[in-house]
Amino acid sequence: MATIEKNIDESEISKFETMASRWWDREGAFGALHDINETRVRYINTRAHLSGKQVLDIGCGGGILSEAMAKIGAQVTGIDAGKGPLEIARSHMIDKGLRIDYRQVTAEAFAVAHSQCYDIVTCMELLEHVPKPWSIINACKELVRPGGHVFFATLNRNPLSYLLAILAAENLFGLVPKGTHQYRRFIKPSEMIQWAQAVQLTLKDVSGLLYIPLLRRCILIGPACVNYMAHFSRRGGLQT
Ligand code: SAH
Repeated sequence: MATIEKNIDESEISKFETMASRWWDREGAFGALHDINETRVRYINTRAHLSGKQVLDIGCGGGILSEAMAKIGAQVTGIDAGKGPLEIARSHMIDKGLRIDYRQVTAEAFAVAHSQCYDIVTCMELLEHVPKPWSIINACKELVRPGGHVFFATLNRNPLSYLLAILAAENLFGLVPKGTHQYRRFIKPSEMIQWAQAVQLTLKDVSGLLYIPLLRRCILIGPACVNYMAHFSRRGGLQT
């Protein structure tokens, strides 16, 4: 069997382990994820119709996105490299009476036995935390069936994103804990598109997410200045 190269930054995993207990606290470290979640789910649902679909949520953390997709009727599997976030995800899911299959595994390892198993693969706010984002993008292509959908959300790399996502969000306003993001790991849309197209994923859309902390609201905008989402489909098969 081919060996899978490790694509984990242990310091990132322990960062999320430390914060895991606050995953569902809307006023805590993950408050912004709660605030943007409705917009993320609407984007996915409009483009890929979640109800009844087999969905894999990669880097699911405490389950904010996984739960919202399950509530719409998707059959969700959530995977994460961290133990703590998954413990929180499982207990919250039980509290809410939802059924989500949570597993502690990396995307690359999971792809070995689950090739083409999913109608939709989501990977939100993970690519900027791994050493080799292109390796996750490749695993997403492997996991989605031909004709299926892949969604990413991450942060652009430019002076404005440094100003807003690091200086303002972490240092000035404390919206997220200091050290949550490393600027060098941010990803330009052009880089993401190049990596995705190299593994035969077809670009459907890139949209910016404008987060307004004062209103705790988020809207989709055209330019992908800071936060953005991208939609790809795997070539071949039936588009649904
Ligand atoms: N996708 C979720 C959580 C994002 S936080 C949401 O948007 O709501 C990032 C998550 O990625 C954390 O839970 C962290 O444990 C996980 N993670 C970091 N590196 C990973 C890797 N290499 N493989 C899988 N999960 C990873």
